[in-house]
Amino acid sequence: MTTTHDNPYRALPSIDRLVADERLAALVARHGREAVVDLAREVVEGHRQAIEAGAPPSEDPVQAVLDRSAVLRPSLVRVINATGVIIHTNLGRAPLARSAVEAMQRVSSGYSNLEYDLEAGERGSRFTHVERLLCHLTGAEAALAVNNNASAVMLALAALCRGREVIISRGQLVEIGGGFRIPDVLRQSGADLVEVGTTNRTRLADYEAAITDRTAAILRVHPSNFRVIGFTEDTPLADLVRLGRERGLTVIDDLGSGALLDTREFGLAAEPTLQEAVHAGADVVLASGDKLLGGPQAGIAVGRADAIASMRRHPLARAVRMDKGSIAALSATLEHYRRGDAVTEVPVWRMIALEADTLGRRARRWSRACGEHAVAEAGRSTVGGGSLPGEELDTVVCAVTPPDGHASAFAAHLREASPAIIARIEDGRVLLDPRTVDPAEDLHVEITLARLCGRPLPELAAD
Ligand SMILES: *Cc1c(COP(=O)(O)O)cnc(C)c1O
Repeated sequence: MTTTHDNPYRALPSIDRLVADERLAALVARHGREAVVDLAREVVEGHRQAIEAGAPPSEDPVQAVLDRSAVLRPSLVRVINATGVIIHTNLGRAPLARSAVEAMQRVSSGYSNLEYDLEAGERGSRFTHVERLLCHLTGAEAALAVNNNASAVMLALAALCRGREVIISRGQLVEIGGGFRIPDVLRQSGADLVEVGTTNRTRLADYEAAITDRTAAILRVHPSNFRVIGFTEDTPLADLVRLGRERGLTVIDDLGSGALLDTREFGLAAEPTLQEAVHAGADVVLASGDKLLGGPQAGIAVGRADAIASMRRHPLARAVRMDKGSIAALSATLEHYRRGDAVTEVPVWRMIALEADTLGRRARRWSRACGEHAVAEAGRSTVGGGSLPGEELDTVVCAVTPPDGHASAFAAHLREASPAIIARIEDGRVLLDPRTVDPAEDLHVEITLARLCGRPLPELAAD
C-alpha cells in the first residue's frame, strides 16, 4: 500500500486553484469561469488517467488549459474588409443584402415549403423557387441553381457531354483560384477535352476544324481573373452559337462572375451579363451567385429548357443541391434586380457605386484619428472575385505610416481588434479603404486606429 506521501494522485491540481491561476485570468474574463472550469476538468482528468496508466504527465496544467482554449473561440467570425477589394474571396465574397439575410433567417429558423407544393399539398421541388425569377431576369427558357458555380460547370459537362468531346480554346484553360482548373473539371466530368487555338488567339476556324462525330459541346470560359493583352483574338459568342447550331453542338458559356447589371454604367469595363449571353443564343449560361450577382454562394445555370432539364435529372444534381437558406437568400437578392433597386440594396453594387466624395470624407476622419501618422489620399479600389481584372475604381484611402515604422506589425494589430480589421500594405504603409467598410463600423475603425497610434480617442460626433 502506498503512503499518502508518495501517492502520485496528490500531484493533481485542484480545479479551483487551476482556474484561479493569473495566466488564465484573461480567458475567464473573456469566456466566463464556467467554460474555463470545463477545460480545467478535462486537463485534470487527462492527468489522472495518465497517472493511472503509470505515466505521470510532465505538462504544465495551466499551459494545457491555454492550449485547449482555442475551442472556446468560434473559428468563423465577422471581419472588417478595409482592403478595398469588393468581392474578396478570402473574406467571404459578396456581403448579403439585408432582405437576403432576413429571408434566410425566416426560412431557416422554422419549416418551409422547400420541397412541398402548397397548392397541390404534395411533394414539390426545391429547384422551382428561383427558376421563374432567373428566367424573368435573363430571358432564358429555364433555370437551375446549385451549390456553387464550380459544381454547375461540373454538372453541365457531366449531364451534357459525358463520354464525348468538348472543345475549348487554349486561352480559356484557366485556373479560377483555389486550384479549380478547368481542364481538371473537364476530366472529372467524364468529358474529353479538345484544346484549340493558342493562348492568345483562337479563331472560329480553329473550333470548326476540331469538330468530330464525338463532339458534344463548345465550352467558353470567361477568363475572369486575368487579362491577355496585345496580339489577341477571341471568337465572339454569337459566332460559336452559329457554328454550334449548324453542327448540332451545345454551346456552354461559363461567365464566372455573371453580372445582371451593366458595369459600364459605373465607369468600369464591360463584364458580360447573363442576359446578353442568353440573348446571344448560348444553350447553357453559368455564373456564380456570390460574385457580381451579390448573393449567397450558388451556381446559376440558365438556358434552353432541354439542356437545363438534363442537368436537373442528372444524379450529380442531388449531390450539389443548394441549402434552403441559400435559396431564400438568392431569391431575395434576385428580387432587388426585378424591382430595380439592386444598386442601392445589394451591397456589392452599392459599394461599386460609392462616389469618391463620400469616401474622402470618411478616409479623412479615419486619418484624423491617427494624428500625424496618417494622411487621406487618392487610391484605387478593385472589384475582385475574378471579375474585371485590372479594372479600378477611384477611391480615397487612409494611409498610415505606423509610429514605429513597422507596417506588417501594425496590420497584425489591426487584425487583433474585435472584429478584426483587414488592411493592405503598400510601400511600407498600411492602407485602409472605406469603400468596402460598412459606415456603421467606421467608429470601430477610428477607435482602433487611434489606440494603435497612441492618440486620444476620437469624438463620437460626426464632422
Ligand atoms: C469563379 C469562377 C468559377 C467558380 O465559381 P464558384 O462559384 O466559386 O464555384 C467558375 N468559372 C469561372 C469562369 C469563374 O470565374
